[in-house]
Amino acid sequence: MASTKAILAGLGAISALAAGTGINPCAAAAPAGPDLKRKQPEIERIVGAISPRRIEATIRKLVGFHTRHTMSETESDTVGIGAARRWIRSEFERCNAANGGRLQVAFDSHVAPVSRRISRPTEIVNVVATLPGTQEGAKDRIYVVSGHYDSRNTDVMDEKGYAPGANDDASGTAAVMEMACVMSRHQFDATIVFMTVAAEEQGLLGAAHWAEQAKQQKLDIAGMFTNDIIGSSRDEHGKIDDKQVRLFAEGIPVEKEMSEAVRTLVQTGGENDSISRQLARHVKEQGERYVPGFKVSVVQRRDRYLRGGDHMPFLERGYAALRFTEPNEDFKHQHQNVRTENGVVIGDMPEYNDYNYIAKVARVNAAALATLALAPAAPRMVQLRTAQLENDSTLVWQANVEPDLAGYRIVWRDTTAADWQGARWVGNVTEAKVPLSKDNYFFGVQAVDKDGNASVAAYPVPLR
Ligand SMILES: [Zn+2]
Repeated sequence: MASTKAILAGLGAISALAAGTGINPCAAAAPAGPDLKRKQPEIERIVGAISPRRIEATIRKLVGFHTRHTMSETESDTVGIGAARRWIRSEFERCNAANGGRLQVAFDSHVAPVSRRISRPTEIVNVVATLPGTQEGAKDRIYVVSGHYDSRNTDVMDEKGYAPGANDDASGTAAVMEMACVMSRHQFDATIVFMTVAAEEQGLLGAAHWAEQAKQQKLDIAGMFTNDIIGSSRDEHGKIDDKQVRLFAEGIPVEKEMSEAVRTLVQTGGENDSISRQLARHVKEQGERYVPGFKVSVVQRRDRYLRGGDHMPFLERGYAALRFTEPNEDFKHQHQNVRTENGVVIGDMPEYNDYNYIAKVARVNAAALATLALAPAAPRMVQLRTAQLENDSTLVWQANVEPDLAGYRIVWRDTTAADWQGARWVGNVTEAKVPLSKDNYFFGVQAVDKDGNASVAAYPVPLR
């Protein structure tokens, strides 16, 4: 009971509020916490440094390898996936040398056996640049951002034909490389892994290999984003929408047998409070804060129909994972042999990308990653007292370990609302009561550091 004093202090602050006239959870009687609305100058510098011109140059270089099909040429220095991955690695290293050398750049390689989309044993190589966290208590927490550098044309087994893959997915690859270059000049409490992966088109093999290694090593992957087809703001009728990006976020995980954790989520109506949905709320809030005029449109499903992506192997291993994709896909410019049909140009070429648009999506990613890696971990063991019938709500949680922790904030929303509507700073305690009924609201608890960086919210499970 080491935290009894803290609990009493927290309750004292809140009972003082409740004893006043009217029960307003937003009242000024609450202790003053860090300013959570303030934009951090360091994150503004990161966002401002992301360059559409460099992103364009990277994409044009990747397209220049003719094909990046996973089973294509690996000996040539100018053609095929081998040349492409060596160039990506050399770019990470070049940037790292100019920025203080804190990125750890490596190939993550394995040989995939023959499978539905792999006709002979093939070396699958991810190019991984890790920016280690610098804070004790936070550096083992990891955020992953990825794009896939392999490409394809109409025939997924065509390893020789032209497959420029400028949007799918040189766009995501270039965004990840740009983020690594810009963000490695800065220090973060937690670790960020910038990853360009292979064999997405052959069945998500590169990402699955990395995610499986992470699971076996029990790595604390606190969030993962894939950027896949973030290149174009133009729909199939020529209309431009460069003011939003879709963010796909899974609710209830797809499982053959319902796990205990999922059962509790469903029993309490928490279908919209899965770890991926909580992560998506954070990305939307921070992305829209740092990239004004640009909307993060959360789509409450795992992915589009008939499609998949590199977030899925992470979801399947129990990690929070999201997918960024442009708002209106033009399927003439994906997975197609380059050709002209009835005067219509078909194929995934660089002239159909919008480089300013890609930079905006990269900025949203960078702002979200930076805020996550500066903030504390989401509180653990968050519980809602349900032993008695009462109209207040009491939440308890385990204390965070980060040395720069300032305290905790309780957030809430109506049961039909998508985003948090109210918040209350409760100080550095591990138990607090809010004068709102747990029957009528969803709650979350966030850990906040002294600079006002707030963690992803954690959903409380019942404590009887
Ligand atoms: Zn793709």
